Amino acid sequence: MKAGYVSLIGRPNVGKSTLLNKMLGQKVAIISDKPQTTRRSILGIKTTLKGQIIFVDNPGVHKPLHNLNRRMMNFVYSSLETCDLINLIIDATLKFGHGDQFVIETLKEISTPKFLLINKVDIIKKEKILLIIEKYRELLDFKEIIPISALQGTNLDILEDKIYENLPEAQKIFPDDEISDQSQRFLLSEIIREKMLAHVEQELPFCTAVYIEKIEDRHKGASSLSSSAAESAEKMLMKYIQASIFVEKDTHRRIIIGRHAQMIKTIGIEARKEIERILGSKVFLDLQVKVKEKWRDSPKVLDLIEGQD
Ligand code: GDP
Ligand code: MG
Repeated sequence: MKAGYVSLIGRPNVGKSTLLNKMLGQKVAIISDKPQTTRRSILGIKTTLKGQIIFVDNPGVHKPLHNLNRRMMNFVYSSLETCDLINLIIDATLKFGHGDQFVIETLKEISTPKFLLINKVDIIKKEKILLIIEKYRELLDFKEIIPISALQGTNLDILEDKIYENLPEAQKIFPDDEISDQSQRFLLSEIIREKMLAHVEQELPFCTAVYIEKIEDRHKGASSLSSSAAESAEKMLMKYIQASIFVEKDTHRRIIIGRHAQMIKTIGIEARKEIERILGSKVFLDLQVKVKEKWRDSPKVLDLIEGQD
């Protein structure tokens, strides 16, 4: 048996969450085309006949700018130092920039073995991949360099084999059926955040946070006339979920609510549908948008959001 921790690292938007979900065959991390989507490390656990791979999905490496980012960087460093293997993921379609240099500099300090995963090869020419491989070979001593498409699943079988080659002999760390360490509460808040990211323009989503206030079993209205009592009780049972969306300014609150509350309705409907699929039950989703100035620098709000277990 082999088992160990594999850290997924890379700049925002390179496809870390997509890769994690694809490797696990189910959604554990939200996906967005806007950067800085993932705010804390999430474990995704893949158990196979060979053993167990425990993925850590990182908030992305970038320079700490304010409290939120400093906290994020602490998660990143500690996960890099304590894991068995680092997978650096890059977006093959993007030019090498300061951000990439910063990631390389960070990794040079860390002795853990490293893979380079060149992602999004589904939308780039082969010749370009070779140039990227050449460039990165000079920058850092990678144990493996693997071109992949997280979206289409290309070369992920090879990746899995190579990961196992580099994990220590060990017994499984988690039970076979465990797929993530994140709480259901956190996943639900992330789903609401994902829908918001999808609909709200540009900068705004970075100043927002979602907190699940309440999850309750409720009966929907009075029982119907037909069918047996037990049957109708079953039909009427639903989950009542109350969530707060924190924003920093009243103008942001108004954007998220939208004209005639159209925006918040759309976010609510999409989130509710996905949450219903996950919970396997009808859901009443009650979304409230609240203004909390400078929440990103407020330890109290950060603790509230990060402590959603
Ligand atoms: P993260 O910030 O690194 O976690 O990135 P995400 O997983 O959220 O993905 C960012 C964007 O890149 C999303 O729009 C994904 O659909 C897209 N993406 C991820 N992997 C691939 C890939 O292999 N090919 C293509 N074409 N797009 C991808
Ligand atoms: Mg992500």
